[in-house]
Amino acid sequence: MAHKVTLIPGDGIGPEVVNATVRILEATGVKFAWESFAAGAEAYEKYHEYIPKELIESIERTCVGLKGPVTTPIGGGFSSINVALRRQFELFANFRPIRNLPAVPTRYPGVDLVVIRENTEGLYSGIEHEVVPGVVESLKIITEKASTRISRFAFEYARKNHRKKIHAIHKANIMKLSDGLFIRCSRSVSKEYPEITYGEHIVDNTCMQLVMNPYQYDMLLLENLYGDIISDLCAAFVGGLGLVPGANFGHQCAIFEAVHGSAPDIAGKDIANPTAVLRSGILMLRHLGEDNAANHIRLALEKVYGEKKHTTRDVGGTAGTTEFADAMVDALHTIPPPEPVLQEVEI
Ligand code: ATP
Repeated sequence: MAHKVTLIPGDGIGPEVVNATVRILEATGVKFAWESFAAGAEAYEKYHEYIPKELIESIERTCVGLKGPVTTPIGGGFSSINVALRRQFELFANFRPIRNLPAVPTRYPGVDLVVIRENTEGLYSGIEHEVVPGVVESLKIITEKASTRISRFAFEYARKNHRKKIHAIHKANIMKLSDGLFIRCSRSVSKEYPEITYGEHIVDNTCMQLVMNPYQYDMLLLENLYGDIISDLCAAFVGGLGLVPGANFGHQCAIFEAVHGSAPDIAGKDIANPTAVLRSGILMLRHLGEDNAANHIRLALEKVYGEKKHTTRDVGGTAGTTEFADAMVDALHTIPPPEPVLQEVEI
């Protein structure tokens, strides 16, 4: 039976990288029934809604989404579609595994980090107002409920996946109440998981520590804004934004999307790297119980990156998005599907 998945191609490089990903996912032989919808400015032109009702109803039905980036206007205009979708479906946990692809050379080989970001509150509450002309206020909301929920998600993930250490990242020396509450909740949850080492690092020090020695960390647990910033930093360890996947999990639904944005500087040129969305697709295949297909794509990625003939510019190659996708489809047709043995979550 085909898996029903809501597809949001997005804008900027979104449609290019999502279409490439769909071709590659389908080349595994797994059947999908895609329900595709526009969102953001493009949807507004068609439906006068930034998130069309039909899109919401589709996710309610399928409970699984694969999403390209949707541009959020800077300094004005509508608020973020990503944030709105995460809030609408209570996708409270943002999951970003940071792992090298073996054939992509970087300054930091062998990085294996998991970044868990709280997705529903913090400075992303979007509550901003002008107090008096020339003075504005932005509210950072931190609740015990959401902080405990994300901490439990992180520790459960660590337990199930045999991770060893979690560091909660904060600035509680300055934001004593808000970040103070966040780490109190993580600390309290950590006591239920004695086999996992728990630590706390201040966010500015974490940036330096990461650049000096990313191997000292195993999992990072962060509130919303620190999670956004640190995950871009961590993407650089493994070759940049074109490579790093992500997933947003709630209790009911999950939406899989890359860490990167709509990259307007390279949109429409057929040069974007679809690997980040594709690896988000690998996470989706695992979520759907299609581990064999996920492992098959993983092997094809190793082949295509290993040969270095059809990789995109961001990783030192010369190929375009379409050429990379063609090479991946060819590789999937050439390499036999692997035996169902890989238990580990590989992306
Ligand atoms: P947002 O704030 O919307 O998350 P961002 O600040 O993370 O966006 P991006 O739009 O992701 O910014 O782009 C940052 C840089 O990375 C740009 O120079 C862009 O061209 C590059 N980039 C992002 N995604 C890709 C990709 N898939 N392939 C190649 N380059 C990319």
